[in-house]
Amino acid sequence: MAEKKGWQELMRGGDLPPATALENKTGSWRSLRPVYDPSNCIHCMICVAYCPDMAIPIKHSEEGVVGKGGRIYKGTVRLETDFDYCKGCGICANECPTKCITMVREE
Ligand code: SF4
Ligand code: SF4
Repeated sequence: MAEKKGWQELMRGGDLPPATALENKTGSWRSLRPVYDPSNCIHCMICVAYCPDMAIPIKHSEEGVVGKGGRIYKGTVRLETDFDYCKGCGICANECPTKCITMVREE
């Protein structure tokens, strides 16, 4: 049996190996789900910057995607929320300037 460390030997602030957050799928905590309407999105990345779980993926698109007003948005664009990690906090919906994210109760 491995010998346990005393608290005095633990690293201040925690003793976790890097990248363990990938294994912690915080989507299981969710009671509300952000529903994203891409037709009203201006790809400003505000939701991406505010999401505490980095649950809104982005990509670079040369061809662009259709967003608000039928306009083609090129460059960095947001994608659908990653529900493995979205915990449903609602910050993205609160911060979105075009209100294209709506929080709905999980079924
Ligand atoms: S904050 Fe709203 S408008 Fe901006 S990228 Fe996110 S969903 Fe789109
Ligand atoms: S609800 Fe919260 S965790 Fe989910 S995408 Fe929006 S900001 Fe991120």
